[in-house]
Amino acid sequence: MIYLDNNATTPIEPLAVEAMLPFLRDSFGNPSSGYAIGREAKKAVSIAREQVASLIGAQPDEIIFTSCGTEADNTAIESAIRAYPERRHLVIAATEHDAVINYCTHLEVSRGYEVTVLGVDSGGRIDLDELESAIRPNETALVSLMWGNNETGVLHPIAEASAIAEAKGALFHTDAVQATGKVPMNLSQLPVHYLAISGHKLHAPKGVGVLYVKKNVRFQPLLIGGGQESHRRAGTENVPYLVALGVAAECARQHLESHASPSDDPVRQLRDRFESEVVSRVEGVHINGNPVHRAPNTSNIRIDGVDASGAIILLDQRGICCSAGSACTTGALKPSHVLTAMGIPGQQARESLRISFSRFNSGSELDAALEAIEATVVKLRSLRPGGIVA
Ligand code: PLP
Repeated sequence: MIYLDNNATTPIEPLAVEAMLPFLRDSFGNPSSGYAIGREAKKAVSIAREQVASLIGAQPDEIIFTSCGTEADNTAIESAIRAYPERRHLVIAATEHDAVINYCTHLEVSRGYEVTVLGVDSGGRIDLDELESAIRPNETALVSLMWGNNETGVLHPIAEASAIAEAKGALFHTDAVQATGKVPMNLSQLPVHYLAISGHKLHAPKGVGVLYVKKNVRFQPLLIGGGQESHRRAGTENVPYLVALGVAAECARQHLESHASPSDDPVRQLRDRFESEVVSRVEGVHINGNPVHRAPNTSNIRIDGVDASGAIILLDQRGICCSAGSACTTGALKPSHVLTAMGIPGQQARESLRISFSRFNSGSELDAALEAIEATVVKLRSLRPGGIVA
């Protein structure tokens, strides 16, 4: 099996598996318990908090552990509107993940909020002037703009956008689920108030996430109960998974640090080689998304005359895992809302394939994937009425 769907989920970092196993076996204590195994669990959670904080340039007490990226996104939005109950307006981008879009739709439909959805250009990025005019002083509670897109990898200008939100007095949240561990981050230098992370996108297990909340920013918890996470997120901590997340964050930090220059990043090298070879070996391949402002691991390609859903089935038969659009839309006939927002017509969106790499992929896997894609394209094009077309 060759796994090239790392934006859907990632293989767990082996060091993270090793680190969490003792907490599934003998060290099963509750971090709130005062005796030895409880204290041990509490210490482990505190180390994980430091490791995650260090990956994103935050303070440990700015880190709140959650059950997933979706919970972090929902909590950030809910917190902002509860913190400013008189503000009834939000701004998001058209290419946000469902974790943001559907929560905002819920606020509109069921709770009477107004949501401005910013369009994107053909490369998938927002216009900063449009953002500035969309924010209404004293009315906009929150701007929520994803750092990196899950389908295309396109990166939004978070430093500039958060500065605009701050200047206009709105809170700023970023869904950084697809960017964390892939691009350097220093939250201490940015006016970002909330940020969401998902463990399973950075080689930790599924079912664990993080909400960063900047110090002194108003916060209202979503889950209310016990006093865990300094009364900001009730529920007994998932100690083994938090330990794994901490180690995965530390490995991601080391990876970013040792490949500080973008051209040094082996994941980017794989992605770039994939794109240059697929374009030269297969006729009619186009790359979706801004070529410069993109996460280094993601490639979203459109192949003329090749339906992505058929390609995925044939590639799966050859042991290659990749996807069309996002994993959440697999099986749905609707073209991706992200590609549609970029002005890509429905048929072309259906011809778009997402290949996403990680540091666990190798050059030989890439070679095998290229060969499989070439053969798949030839087969699918030959099956079209009229035979082989480019
Ligand atoms: N945000 C983005 C950009 C994502 O890609 C995902 C998952 O696909 C999420 C949020 C949700 O994360 P989780 O699966 O941890 O709930």
